[in-house]
Amino acid sequence: MAKLSKRQTPKIDNKYTLARVDYNEIKKYNFNWEDKHLDDIKGRIRMFYKEQQNNICAFCKLPFRDDIHIEHMVPKGGKYGMPMYAFYTLNLCVCCKHCNSKKSTNNDMVPWNRIPYPHDGQYFKIIHPHFDNYFDHIQIVDKTRYVAKTLKGYKTINRCKLYDPVILEVLAETTKYQEDPLIQGVLRMRELGTNFKATIDRFFDKIFG
Ligand SMILES: [Zn+2]
Repeated sequence: MAKLSKRQTPKIDNKYTLARVDYNEIKKYNFNWEDKHLDDIKGRIRMFYKEQQNNICAFCKLPFRDDIHIEHMVPKGGKYGMPMYAFYTLNLCVCCKHCNSKKSTNNDMVPWNRIPYPHDGQYFKIIHPHFDNYFDHIQIVDKTRYVAKTLKGYKTINRCKLYDPVILEVLAETTKYQEDPLIQGVLRMRELGTNFKATIDRFFDKIFG
């Protein structure tokens, strides 16, 4: 586990590319996000973005703790929903349960033509993880709170309720040990899949041997 700050990439670099066969399948089931036949494709999209985002939520920038949700920047349903973008992978990212439930299907678009899909963050009132650099808009201060640097940052904090004690507690907990060299060393060993006992034996041999 690298330091959290190293895993918090400012934006998503690569979008998921649907295979032709997947696209045909999506078309066959009318772009219906809820259709069970499309669960496999959704699973692959989730895995892809989970990896792209280094296992970090797009909005609170904290490691996933429970369910990982696929977030639709332009909602797939509801009053402002556009089902045609349900499987449009530039419209998708992954976020944590907290941010997903707070964000819901609210409209976070500035007025636009709806077609084609915008390719710029300026069309979105909140941070779009494919277009905007998160830390241009929000700063995590003292490892304890989210501070807006721009209006877009302010709206993202409000939309995802990043002032909620639940999320601030996770932030404090996650960053608590990240400067501790001993803990970083142990985490590094775990990451490398090192045989703990052998490494510790070698370490003691070196010191006391
Ligand atoms: Zn989150």
